[in-house]
Amino acid sequence: MSSVPELKATLTLPQTAFPMKANLPQNEPLRLARWASLQLYQELRNAGRGRPVYLLHDGPPYANGPIHLGHALNKGLKDFVVKSKTMAGFDAPYVPGYDCHGLPIEIKVDEKLGRRKLDMPVPAVLEACRAYAQKYIDLQTEQFQRIGCFGRWENPYKTMARPYEARTLEAFYAFLEKGFVYRGLKPVYWCIHDRTALAEAEVEYANHTSPSVYVRYALTSDPAAISPALAARQIFTIIWTTTPWTLPASMAVAFHPDFEYVALDCDGGVYIVANELAAKVIADCKLRSRKDPAQPGSQGDIVARFKGAVLDRATFQHPFLERSILGVLADYVTADTGTGAVHTAPSHGADDFYTGERYGLDPTSRVDAGGHIHVDPAAWPLATPPAWDGMNVWKANPVIVAMLEERGALMGGSPLEHSYPHCWRCHHPIIFRATEQWFISLETPMKRADGLEISFRQLAIEEIEKVIWDPAWGKERITNMIATRPDWCISRQRIWGVPIAVFLCESCNQPIIDPAHNRKIVDLFEREGAEAWHTAPLETLLPPEAKCAHCGGTAFRKETDILDVWFDSGVSWLAVCESDPDLSAAYKAFQKGDGPRRDHDVLYLEGGDQHRGWFHSSLLTSVALRGRAPYSHVATAGWTLDEQGRAMSKSLGNGVDPIDIANRMGGEIVRLWVASVDFREDTAASENLMQRCAELYKKLRNTFRFLLGNLSGFNPETDKVEERELLPLDRYMLARTRELAEKILAWYEQFEFHRIYQALNEFAIVDLSAFYLDVLKDRMYTFAPTNPARRSAQTVLWQITEALVRLVAPIMSFTADEVWEHLPKVEGREPTVHLARFPKPEEIFSGDPAPVLAEWERLFAIREDALRILEEERKAKRIGKALEAKLVITAEEGGDVLLLKYRSSLKDLFNVSEVELVTSIDLQEAVRTNPTEANADGLLVSHWGSTWLPGHGRKYLYRVDAISASGTKCARCWNFMPDLSDYGAWQNVCGRCRSALKEMDIDPPAAEPPIERAIP
Ligand SMILES: [Zn+2]
Ligand SMILES: [Zn+2]
Ligand SMILES: [Zn+2]
Repeated sequence: MSSVPELKATLTLPQTAFPMKANLPQNEPLRLARWASLQLYQELRNAGRGRPVYLLHDGPPYANGPIHLGHALNKGLKDFVVKSKTMAGFDAPYVPGYDCHGLPIEIKVDEKLGRRKLDMPVPAVLEACRAYAQKYIDLQTEQFQRIGCFGRWENPYKTMARPYEARTLEAFYAFLEKGFVYRGLKPVYWCIHDRTALAEAEVEYANHTSPSVYVRYALTSDPAAISPALAARQIFTIIWTTTPWTLPASMAVAFHPDFEYVALDCDGGVYIVANELAAKVIADCKLRSRKDPAQPGSQGDIVARFKGAVLDRATFQHPFLERSILGVLADYVTADTGTGAVHTAPSHGADDFYTGERYGLDPTSRVDAGGHIHVDPAAWPLATPPAWDGMNVWKANPVIVAMLEERGALMGGSPLEHSYPHCWRCHHPIIFRATEQWFISLETPMKRADGLEISFRQLAIEEIEKVIWDPAWGKERITNMIATRPDWCISRQRIWGVPIAVFLCESCNQPIIDPAHNRKIVDLFEREGAEAWHTAPLETLLPPEAKCAHCGGTAFRKETDILDVWFDSGVSWLAVCESDPDLSAAYKAFQKGDGPRRDHDVLYLEGGDQHRGWFHSSLLTSVALRGRAPYSHVATAGWTLDEQGRAMSKSLGNGVDPIDIANRMGGEIVRLWVASVDFREDTAASENLMQRCAELYKKLRNTFRFLLGNLSGFNPETDKVEERELLPLDRYMLARTRELAEKILAWYEQFEFHRIYQALNEFAIVDLSAFYLDVLKDRMYTFAPTNPARRSAQTVLWQITEALVRLVAPIMSFTADEVWEHLPKVEGREPTVHLARFPKPEEIFSGDPAPVLAEWERLFAIREDALRILEEERKAKRIGKALEAKLVITAEEGGDVLLLKYRSSLKDLFNVSEVELVTSIDLQEAVRTNPTEANADGLLVSHWGSTWLPGHGRKYLYRVDAISASGTKCARCWNFMPDLSDYGAWQNVCGRCRSALKEMDIDPPAAEPPIERAIP
C-alpha cells in the first residue's frame, strides 16, 4: 500500500552545493593553490595586454619580521585598487617590493654574529645580512599571499638585488655628476648606540630628562666697552644648557643683537642677562642683591642696560678649559627660556655650526662615534686628564656639573623633562655631532622646463603642485617639509647598504668624478654585487694614471660609507618602474605626460608618515634626475590603533596579528576589516572588531547562498526573461541593483572602500534578506518552476548575483570566486571571477533607474504604514500572521495612480494574502469630519498616510486598513484563499496551487486507494 506523498514535497525549495559553512581557514589555502595552478597573475597580464595601464607602484616594506596589521592594511588597500582597476578594464600590473638594506638588519646580524663578526671579512657579514633579509622576504611574501593579495610574488623587486644596487649607485653617480653632491663637516643627528648618522625621517621625539644648568662665564674683554657703568667691575654672563656634556666644545656665547640686556649688580659679581629673562634668572640662580645680600636681586640692582649688539666679539673665559670664548650675535636667540646668552658649540648644533662658520670657530667634534668625549689637548694643557675624558656623553653630564660646582661656575640647576630627539631604530636619545658627511644640496640650481633657473628645492615644491594628494592635507605637509628641510645627508657609517663608491684624494679629500669610470663601477655592481666594492683591491678598480682634478694628487682611498636607505627606496621609480620590462613602457609614457591622466596614472599609496619618508625621498630623486615628480597620485593611510586609540604593542597585549586572524577566521575576514575602515583616518582594530567582520561575513555568505539556491534549475540561455517582460517588482530590484553598481563603481574609483562595505551590507541585509528574498518566497517555492512569474524573479536573482559577485570580488576575493563556481553555467565564462570585468550598469538595467526608484520610494512609504498597521492589528489580536491578513487601501482619487499601476505587485510588496484598492473622492472630507483620528499635524493617524506623487504638485491622502483575509489557509502555500478544494487526497489546496501542480505535471494521489480485485 503506497502512502499519500507529502504536499510539502511539491514545493520548489532553494538548492545549491554552495555550503553554508565557509571553513575559510581550511578552504582558502586550497583556493590559493588553484589560483597558482591557473598562473592567475600571468593570466591577468595576458588578458590586460593592449588595455590602458594603471600603475600602482609598491612602497617596499622593510624585510625584518613577519607582517603586522599595518602591513595587512597597506597591502589589502593596494590589492583593492589593483583588482578594481583590473576589473574596470585597465591593465594593472603589481610588482611588490622589499626594502632590504639598513640598520635594523645589520644590527640583528651583529647581535647574532657577536664577537665572530670581528674576524669575518666584510662580504661574509653582508652575506649574512642578505640571508637575513631573504628569510623575511620569503615569509612576508607567503603571508601577503595568504590574505589574498595578487601580484608578481615570484619575482618581487628587492633593493638588495644586484641590478637594483647597480641602479642605486647609478642614481648616486648622476647626482654627483650633475653637481648636487658635496662633502662637508656638519652637525647631523647621530645615534651613539648605532654609531651612525640619522636622517630627519629617522628621528622621533620622546620625553627625556636632562640636567638643566646655569653656568657663568667671566668676561675677559674691557667691560667699559660694553657700558661705561661697568668699568673695572668683575663681569659675568650666565648661560643655560640641558647638555652639560657639550660644554667642553663651548666656543662662543650668542646674544640677540636687538634684545635689551641688563647688568645686575649682585652679591658675587655683575651678571649680564636679557632683560626679559632677568627675573627668572634671579629666581632660578638665587641671585642676591649686592646692596643688601639678605634680599633677592631686583630691578633696583640693574647698573647698566644695552643692546645685545654691543657684546659682539666681547671675550669670556671658558669655565674649566684654557679657552677664550667669543661673544657672537645670532637672531635665533629667544627670550622664552634660558638667559638670552646662548652657549654655542659648533660641533653639536646646527644653529651653532652656522654661527661658528660666520665667526670662524673650530667645528671639530671631540665626541667619537660611540659618544665618548675626548679632551682637546690645546685647551687642557694639564698632565692629568679631566675625569670626563673618554666618558660617554650621558655619564659625563654629572661629572661636568660637579666640576662646574667645584669651580664656582655653577649658578643653579635642576633636572628637566622635555621632548628630545630619539633614534627611531633603537629608541635611544641621540646627539648632534659634526662629522664629515655626504650631502645633496637642496639649493642646487636647476633649469625648469621653460628654461628658468630655480633651485632644486623650488622645483620640487612646484612638482608637488601637479600631484593629486589624497587626503588633500598631504600636499601642505610635504610642501612644508621640503621647504624647510636641511640638505640631505646621504651617507651612513655602516656596511649593509650600497657603498658610496667613490675614490677620495689622499691629499685634498676631494672625490674623483669621472662618468666613464663610474659606468665601469656600475657594471661591476651589476655583475658581482655591491660586495665587489669591499673585495676588489683599489688598483684593479682605479686606472693607474688616475690623477686628482683639484690638486693633482695620485694617491687615493676608497670611501667606505654607504648610502642612506631612503636613497635606496627613493630611487625605486628608476630601479623598478623605469627598468623592469613589465613596467618600463607604461612608466616612460607617464613620464612624458604632463600631470595626472587616467590612462597614465602612477599611484603611490602608503602610510601618512611617508611624507617625510618614501614619498619625500622619491620626489627628490625624481625631480633631480628627471625634472618631475615620480607619481601623479599619492594616497595615504592612517595608523592602525586599538579600539581605545592606542598604538598596538606587545606590552599592552592589544595587537591583532593578521595571520593569526587568517588562520582562525579566514584571510577574507582580514580583507573585510580593511574594507570596513576609513583608511584615510587612523583605523581601529581588535579581536572584537574582527569578530564583527566575521559575523557580517556570515550574513553576506548566506545571502549569496540564498541567491544561488533559488537559481537552481535556471538556465540563463533558455529561461531568461526579457527586461520589458519582467514583473514590476523584479524590474524595481534591477533598477536598484543598477543604482548600487553605479555607486560602487564610483567608490572604487575614489578608493572609498568603506562606503562599498557599508552599501553592500545594507543591500544584502535590508534590500535582499529583509525584503526581496523574503517576499519572493511565495513565488519561488509555490509556483511551478517554469512559470513565467517565477522565471522573472529568477532572471533578476541571476542578474543580481552576477553583478554582486563581480562588485565584491576585489574585496571578498576568496568568496566571490567560490560563488562564481556555483553560478548557472554560461558559455565562455572565465575560469575565475578575477578574470571577469565589472558589470556595466546599463547591462544590469537598460533604462534610467531614477524614475523607477522614485515611484517605488512612494510605494515603500505606503509599505511602512502598512507594516506598522499589520503589527498593531496583530498585537490587538484582530489578525494573525501577515498571510492571514488582507489590506484595504483607500486612496484619494488622482492619488491612486501608482497603486493602480503596480496593483499586481502589491500583494508581494506587502507580503499579505490579498490587497484591495478603493478609490475615494472625499478622503479630505473624511479627515475633516473624523478629527479623532487625526494626529498632531491634523492629517495623519495610524491608518492614514499621504504621499507626494511625482509631477502632481500636491500631497494625496490614503488610508490603510488591515483585516482578516477572506478565505481559508491553503495547505500548500499558506495563503488565505477563497477557492480551496481537495486535490485528490490533498485537502484544502487553492486554485493557484492546483494549477501550479498541473503545470508541474504532478498528478494528485487518488483520494481513496483503489480496491484491489483478485484476477480471476
Ligand atoms: Zn639608534
Ligand atoms: Zn686632491
Ligand atoms: Zn496555495
